[in-house]
Amino acid sequence: MKKKKDLILHFPERLSIETIFDCNAKCLCCPTPRLKTGGVMEPKMFKNIIDEASNHPIKDIFPFIRGEPLLDPNIIDYLEYVRNKLPSVNIHFSSNGLLCSPKISQKLLNLNIASMTFSIHRHDINSCREYMGLNYEKILKNVNFFLSIAENEDKKPNVSIISVDIPDHEKSNALSIKNKYNWVSMEFWPGHNRAGNVPYNSSFNFEQGIYVSNLNGCYSEMWLYEWFFIFYDGNVSFCCNDWLNEWIIGNIEHHTLKELWNSKKNWKFRHWTDGIEEAPLNFICRNCILAVKEPPGK
Ligand code: SF4
Ligand code: SF4
Repeated sequence: MKKKKDLILHFPERLSIETIFDCNAKCLCCPTPRLKTGGVMEPKMFKNIIDEASNHPIKDIFPFIRGEPLLDPNIIDYLEYVRNKLPSVNIHFSSNGLLCSPKISQKLLNLNIASMTFSIHRHDINSCREYMGLNYEKILKNVNFFLSIAENEDKKPNVSIISVDIPDHEKSNALSIKNKYNWVSMEFWPGHNRAGNVPYNSSFNFEQGIYVSNLNGCYSEMWLYEWFFIFYDGNVSFCCNDWLNEWIIGNIEHHTLKELWNSKKNWKFRHWTDGIEEAPLNFICRNCILAVKEPPGK
């Protein structure tokens, strides 16, 4: 894998900002339902992040990391702040759909979001209740409403419906949405171990007990070199899979984003992931399905 150490940006192009660490779902493929949740970002912190970002050529904002962003009552106000401060930035939104009411859908579309991802991992009333803990009929009603108004927009957002580790027999239900709205992307993803934060379970389709002894990069290289992940309490990580915040670069209460991005600690993590320096035995990437292994004999 090509090392991008000479191509480094001076500020990330993409920011994921977790305004709330909570979810109304209990998806079996996700670490969040097993953690103590409930954290909410202070409005002043969110605005400070956007104010700093507005001094840099930022391209994309993702206002969520480990949960359902529509649980945050301030989320639309925050997105309006983003749109005012960064008129041309791409806002990427994501939701499991349960709280994406017609009113919220209209507001999101008024903000010219660039993309909307619905994470719906089961497409059957009973299995959605069992797997996600959610009401599939209500989700479907909301998604259909969103799509019915989005398709009349001059500039439609890119809409994806993502299902993780979905059984084959439910795929046809999922595809019935696409039959109606053929511009929507339906994506069936394999299970992801979230860098060891989803324990192996026989219902998930990923390799068990992953341990990479010879790290040689990350298949999502842009996460290290283009993207920053800011959690609700101001902690900043190089990867969204740092669910437990064990590999934090620093906190924006004490440093600017630019300082953290260019810090020695961030470089240390990049070098560990890329195999330029030997990472500690417990480094997060060693347990991740997205880690690149150095070919044997090198
Ligand atoms: S909806 Fe998303 S954040 Fe919530 S539990 Fe499911 S996968 Fe996790
Ligand atoms: S390999 Fe490391 S940087 Fe890449 S996704 Fe996994 S934990 Fe994150």
